[in-house]
Amino acid sequence: MRKSVKKESAGEPGLFGAALPVKPAGGEPKKNSKGLLSFSYSKMSLYEECPLKYKFKYIDKIKEEPKYYFAFGNSIHHAMEFLYAVKAPPFPGIDDLLEAFKKDWGLKSYLEKGYKDPFREEEDYRKGMEMLKNYYRHHEGKFKLPFLLEYSTDVEVDGLLVRIIADKIEYQGNGEIILVDYKTGKDVKRQPAQLYMYQKICELDPRLRERVQETYGDRVAGVRIKQMLYYHVPTLKEYHFDRAEDAEIGGFWERVLGVADNIRGLKYDPTPGERQCLWCDYKKLCPHYYGGRSHCVPPVASAAADAGLVEELVDRYGHLREKMDELNAQIEDVKAKIINLSEGAEGMAGKKYAVNIHRAEKWEFRDRSAVIGVLNEFDLYQKALGLTLKNIVLLMDDPAVPEPARKKLRLHAEKSHIFDLHVKKSGGPLP
Ligand code: SF4
Repeated sequence: MRKSVKKESAGEPGLFGAALPVKPAGGEPKKNSKGLLSFSYSKMSLYEECPLKYKFKYIDKIKEEPKYYFAFGNSIHHAMEFLYAVKAPPFPGIDDLLEAFKKDWGLKSYLEKGYKDPFREEEDYRKGMEMLKNYYRHHEGKFKLPFLLEYSTDVEVDGLLVRIIADKIEYQGNGEIILVDYKTGKDVKRQPAQLYMYQKICELDPRLRERVQETYGDRVAGVRIKQMLYYHVPTLKEYHFDRAEDAEIGGFWERVLGVADNIRGLKYDPTPGERQCLWCDYKKLCPHYYGGRSHCVPPVASAAADAGLVEELVDRYGHLREKMDELNAQIEDVKAKIINLSEGAEGMAGKKYAVNIHRAEKWEFRDRSAVIGVLNEFDLYQKALGLTLKNIVLLMDDPAVPEPARKKLRLHAEKSHIFDLHVKKSGGPLP
């Protein structure tokens, strides 16, 4: 059961400047022609992790960075599929298995796979080859034809269209099946929600019943999960999980329907937290992320705080801010008058002070969704190295970017000029 899946440099302004005013609500979820909501275990777990992250990924369709561990897992899964995808024995030899892995591994560059450098990629390549050799030798002579491989199905239930993809299904007779899920990470953890989802959907799936009849001639009233098996390829260990009780599945399904209701109700309020924000690719777009800490962390007032001192400091702070706002307004007014009178000059002088005038272009993209649409259409999100204003502007002048893409980006860009005055007391060199 596989997942398919950019990091932006800290401190750079986002596409809409540092504040990135992304609305946390809005955006219709994908429904099919019958009005069913597309759903899956990975969608549900992402929503439960952070609804806004779900929105960025599934509603706004902003691609995440490629993840090397997914690329690695995908190539191992591909090799396993190759090994078992025979109509009848003999099974492929070890060299063919390794060649299948090598071929799939070579389809993408190390960057496309999500590696930071080619050395880590090479390391994982060797690790994968070793893993598959060990697997092959461990099971050699005992390979069994599976019932189904990479079985993908969409089942309609309770207003949802739920998709599952099972790595391998083995048939045990009497309508009973064992679901096998290959795991390639460091360790294996029981994922109850995944187990429940697969059990519920497999047992409701009419196509699975038909496939049993087609393949084994068994006319069964329904398919029943006997067991789920996580196979940890790095250690060759099997983890067996028995069929869940109906009560467990019932409780889980209430949870699924609750998440689906929230998605239909366009509830995308973020749930920032250290764990989920740390690994989130949407930090730069997210107004709720701040340096690894949530804006939502409430201020902690010290019980011992001196109430009188607090009042005095807060009032002083407010008074100073008021004065600063007044002064800033005056500074902006005088600055605008100097720039108007400068007529392109690089510097102007008074009796006591002199100013150096810096001029720069400022780009703005007001329609965020349209720009994201262009980046996705031309597959430029990775090239932009993040949804930052600077990188999008660079794309517009990059001859390596197709002209139609640059033209479309320019359509959404608005150019203005910004001025900065560097001031110094007269008598010394200008900054
Ligand atoms: S940065 Fe945190 S709050 Fe923002 S979308 Fe990601 S996980 Fe959610």
